[in-house]
Amino acid sequence: MFESLTKSIFINGKWEAISEAHTETIYNPATLEPITKVAHAGAKETTKAITAADEAFPQWSQKTGRERSRYLYKAYQLMQEDAERLGKILTMEQGKPLNEAIGEVKGAANFLLWYAEEASRNYGEWLPSSTNSKRLMVIPQAVGVVGAITPWNFPSSMITRKLAPALAAGCTVVLKPAPETPLSAIEIMKIFERAGVPNGVVNLVTGDAKAIGQQLLTNKVVQHITFTGSTAVGKYLIRESAQQVKKLSLELGGHAPSIVFADADLDKATSLVIGSKFRNNGQTCICTNRLYVHQHIANDFANLLKVKVSQLKLGSGLENEVDLGPLINQKACEKVHDHVKDATEKGAIVECGGEQWNDKLDGHYYKPTILSNISDEMKIMHEETFGPVIPIQTFTDESEVIKQANNTDYGLAAYVFTENTNRAIRVSEKLDYGIVGVNDVFPATPEAPFGGIKQSGIGKEGGHHGMDEFLEKKYISIGID
Ligand code: ADP
Repeated sequence: MFESLTKSIFINGKWEAISEAHTETIYNPATLEPITKVAHAGAKETTKAITAADEAFPQWSQKTGRERSRYLYKAYQLMQEDAERLGKILTMEQGKPLNEAIGEVKGAANFLLWYAEEASRNYGEWLPSSTNSKRLMVIPQAVGVVGAITPWNFPSSMITRKLAPALAAGCTVVLKPAPETPLSAIEIMKIFERAGVPNGVVNLVTGDAKAIGQQLLTNKVVQHITFTGSTAVGKYLIRESAQQVKKLSLELGGHAPSIVFADADLDKATSLVIGSKFRNNGQTCICTNRLYVHQHIANDFANLLKVKVSQLKLGSGLENEVDLGPLINQKACEKVHDHVKDATEKGAIVECGGEQWNDKLDGHYYKPTILSNISDEMKIMHEETFGPVIPIQTFTDESEVIKQANNTDYGLAAYVFTENTNRAIRVSEKLDYGIVGVNDVFPATPEAPFGGIKQSGIGKEGGHHGMDEFLEKKYISIGID
């Protein structure tokens, strides 16, 4: 499936060769087997890519929205047609089950479709002036060259979620994907190439995160950095980009609470909590990290949840009917276990799981885990676990549980399970989060704004809001006789 991927840097419409000495091996987290090698590029290649993006910008930004739309629509079609093969590649490098991977690829393609449509709906404003001697207007213009830095948990959709609105707005892009998952990024570049996107409009540099990041941060040509990843790296990007007052969009960590009220539909709520917690094996920034269940239903809920969780099947994502793949690496397994160990030392009870799984494969597997008897001082109640562990706490009072849910520096996603519409609205309005899912744990979609508040980020991705991030609103004041 993978020939020579040492040509993994795409600059100005060409795949650049790099010597074998400057490559790194990509491993399959399910088996720890090497898949292929990709270029380990750095500052030099990044500068070249930024220059290519800069040179492509005038022509690309001056195309009509309708023209840009055609390239995005073509890319969407190519990606949809190839979803099965792309899903397989995604599973191999990232580990998630194949059906999830194909779903991600199709979802990623849908961002291309949505922004193909939005490209021609980039409206300005005509402002009523307070004097007759002036005419005032606001025109949206592409910000310029964009640096995009993406994570490994969604190797495909995190890329199109950034690149589609940037390209629709008229920006050109230098992409740096996660070192763990460059193969999906390479495939997406090939799609743009096949769609005929002009040279230099999209560029890809794989390799040394710090060196590539440094160029994106210090090169004056780059006007905007769009990033998804950890809060720690997000804070670093804020500090470093301050030197040039660059625009930033940041999707950072989360610590999502799920609140299950006594009037929730137990069967539906348990399945949804499982969807939220175990999709991608808990490695999503919006997955449930804390679960608050009303005292009246706590026993029934926990029993049903345990039955359903114990039926989840672990294994390589390429095997049939696997629900949970491996975690991305051993460090991730260790972090998950550290949270479990810390909780049990502080009194938590392991209802199921609670250990690594090494029965069959060499990958980094952790058994799906439920913890009860939870208290607030446990690490798992404050830090992102990024793995398959649910801590259950009980509550009795609505306002008290809202206070507990909001007691975090994060503010990305929160979930509410109730059959009472008044409560759904009342609680949603009081939760300090950028996204609230009511009886819905998959809120991310191209047409809606995804993004966090507090230390979970700045800006939105998705919807018309997502394209605004890549547009400057220029105000033109015209004096007339
Ligand atoms: P995670 O811990 O989930 O891997 P990171 O925030 O470390 O999250 O990584 C998200 C993305 O940020 C990846 O593409 C990674 O290579 C990149 N990255 C990490 N450190 C830096 C840095 N100093 N400068 C630029 N990009 C970085």
